[in-house]
Amino acid sequence: MNITRMDLADAGSPERLVLEILKCEPQLPIPVPIEELCLRLDIHEILPLTTKGFEGGLITTPDKFKGTILFNAASPRERRRFTIAHELGHFLMPSHVPSAEGQFLCKLQDMRELKGGESDRRLKMEVEANRFASQLLLPPPKFRVDVAVGKDPDIRQMTAIARKYDVSKEATARAYVHFREEPVAVVVTHNGRVLRDYHNALKFPKLAIPAGAMVPAHSLLRRRTHEQGVASDIDETDAGVWLHVERGRQPAPLYEQVLVQRDGYALIMLSRDVASGDDEEEDEEGEMTSAQRLKRRLDRDC
Ligand SMILES: [Zn+2]
Repeated sequence: MNITRMDLADAGSPERLVLEILKCEPQLPIPVPIEELCLRLDIHEILPLTTKGFEGGLITTPDKFKGTILFNAASPRERRRFTIAHELGHFLMPSHVPSAEGQFLCKLQDMRELKGGESDRRLKMEVEANRFASQLLLPPPKFRVDVAVGKDPDIRQMTAIARKYDVSKEATARAYVHFREEPVAVVVTHNGRVLRDYHNALKFPKLAIPAGAMVPAHSLLRRRTHEQGVASDIDETDAGVWLHVERGRQPAPLYEQVLVQRDGYALIMLSRDVASGDDEEEDEEGEMTSAQRLKRRLDRDC
């Protein structure tokens, strides 16, 4: 690797930073050698965290001359890689300033923040660090090609991509739903309850089942038994099981696929046919001003 921080001097956004890194290192292998990259970019040490309750940290000075990245050694390798990339994002983003103690300390929830922060500076930094980590570990030029493979969205394909890039299934899902052409959502569940879901709001409607609620009884997860670690076949499900369906309206078909994981966790992939996304634009969008809508589209297109 030849890259140095001088090469990134003009980059002020997560997308621009990743673009410049990929420009300097066109042969960057997959999985991205994140630790080696950090060491090229003035991170002197990458050490296990000793403070409990945090997933990652960065110790640096206000001038960010150099930095030390900290990670939770108890977390799985894929998550540690995302954490290290997230902290590198804090280090490289010129607008990210450390606390008075000269550090960033980030919790697991911080690593999942995807939006917001217009009026909350700390949240904005977390969202940007996540955008940086996601694009760096799943570089769009290559990721886009891998995501497009296959006739239908498929958990097996998504899992294979996660393995190839050495990124967790959940972090892969967050990017997958944006890059796949069809409308796709991925729901994370635990002990039969919805924990959270990821979808591209421009293509996939908001779920009718909020976080914390039970997974519907007629969903594929509950109407069949599943073997742990083996993805189910893709099955058509009544759209009303997961989505708001107006009375008297015939909704587009909804497909469901389940992957039961360890410790009561499961992933559910919901998808629709390509053309079906247009008729049900997300409610959230309707409440936005046109400037907000434009900004949101620009954000997403990056
Ligand atoms: Zn952070």
